[in-house]
This record gives sequence, C-alpha cells and structure tokens, in this order.
Amino acid sequence: MTIFKKILDGAIPTQKIYEDDHCIAFKDIHPQAPVHILIIPRKEIPTLADAKPEDQALLGHLMIKTTEIARQLGIEEQGYRVVINCRQHGGQEVAHLHIHLLAGRQLKWPPG
Ligand code: 5GP
Repeated sequence: MTIFKKILDGAIPTQKIYEDDHCIAFKDIHPQAPVHILIIPRKEIPTLADAKPEDQALLGHLMIKTTEIARQLGIEEQGYRVVINCRQHGGQEVAHLHIHLLAGRQLKWPPG
C-alpha cells in the first residue's frame, strides 16, 4: 500500500486543503516552493503511464481542480507550475498518480 493510499484512508494525517468524490489535495510534506500542493485521485492509478482511456474524465477533473485550487490560493495571476513525475526517469517516488502544484517563487527551467 502506498503512503498516499494511507492518506486517503485517513491512516496518516495530512493538511488537506480540498476533497471531493474523485480526488483530494493536500500540502506536500517536503515543500519545494512556498506553495506545494499534491492533487491525487481516489482511484489507485500507479503512474500516468497506467492511465487508461476510461480515466479521461478523471484526469480532466484533476486538472480543472488544480486550476481552481490555484485560483483559491491566490497564485493564479503570478502563475504556477504543474508537474506529474512518471516512473524512474521522471523522478516519481510514490506509486500513486499525483499532480504537483508549485508556486510562490520564480521557478527555473529546465528542471534538474
Ligand atoms: P513524486 O516524487 O512521487 O512525484 O512526489 C511524491 C511527493 O510526495 C514528494 O514531493 C514528497 O515530499 C511527498 N510526500 C511523500 N510522503 C508524504 C507524506 O507522508 N505526506 C505528504 N503530505 N507528502 C508526502
């Protein structure tokens, strides 16, 4: 079981900032920017590469919720970065699909 499944089940406490029937959003425990939120589906999809055509609406839901959360956090005007790490070379550590929402400082490109 992944750490995110434990968070979904309430077995591990977290600073939740949003939840609905399909996803939850909470603060990253090791923030890489002043704002660092993780948005995860309740459905256990290990990586983006494991998403199926039937997950299309769910993936769209996650992206739209990410924009709404950004608006509510007041980071929309200055902007933000949305990241999905996929598998080993993508730097993914937790095998439960998640979106990183990063903001609050000037982010560099390219990533390391
Ligand atoms: P990944 O590297 O898989 O894309 O990102 C996993 C993220 O989950 C990391 O940024 C890491 O800091 C975060 N994380 C890992 N364990 C926990 C936890 O127990 N609670 C919270 N809130 N974040 C976690």
